[in-house]
Amino acid sequence: MRFSLVIVFLFSFISSFAQQDAEREKIRQIEQQKEFERVRQIRAQMDSGIYYLDHEEYTLADQKLKYALSNMRSIPSDLTFFFGKNSYFIGKFKQSVDWLTKYIQLKGTTGQYSEEAADWLKRAEQSLLQERQLESQKAAEVLSKDYTIDCGPTGKVTCPVCNGSTVIIKKDYFGETYKTCLYCHQKGYLTCEEYNLLLRGQLKAGK
Ligand SMILES: [Zn+2]
Repeated sequence: MRFSLVIVFLFSFISSFAQQDAEREKIRQIEQQKEFERVRQIRAQMDSGIYYLDHEEYTLADQKLKYALSNMRSIPSDLTFFFGKNSYFIGKFKQSVDWLTKYIQLKGTTGQYSEEAADWLKRAEQSLLQERQLESQKAAEVLSKDYTIDCGPTGKVTCPVCNGSTVIIKKDYFGETYKTCLYCHQKGYLTCEEYNLLLRGQLKAGK
């Protein structure tokens, strides 16, 4: 009798442990399920990004691929390729070069997209170069403000601030207000020297 009691006690003791174990396992499974679902959903966003890229909807593709980039714990090499390729189409050439280079570093010449990646990388690099050349051309533009302009024999120029009217009309919520032009001293014209200063943004307003 006493012996069987001990058995029963022991058995219930063990089974309560087993129950706890089962619960822990259940929680672990639920958490794993959640993580699978999270990864699946991000992967779906990446796939739809690739779909939009293939269908020339580059802005949408950019959104989807960026979502995948910022939510994945580690970035699959495929994504570096697709994001780099799509960046080319939205005109972000530097970004394109960056990600395509990454793909080639990861996969070498034997990756599924290696050839295509090398091809897009070349184009992105060329476009980036062109863009930079254009920028340096812009910087080298010749602008009139860097020169002294000859105002002709009169030595006067109609004041461009007030168009010669000597007043400046300001419109706001309260209606129109009239102010005396502070540049031409109520004359309506500027001397050639003043005019050249104005062009350079160096003519000080009077009082
Ligand atoms: Zn004026």
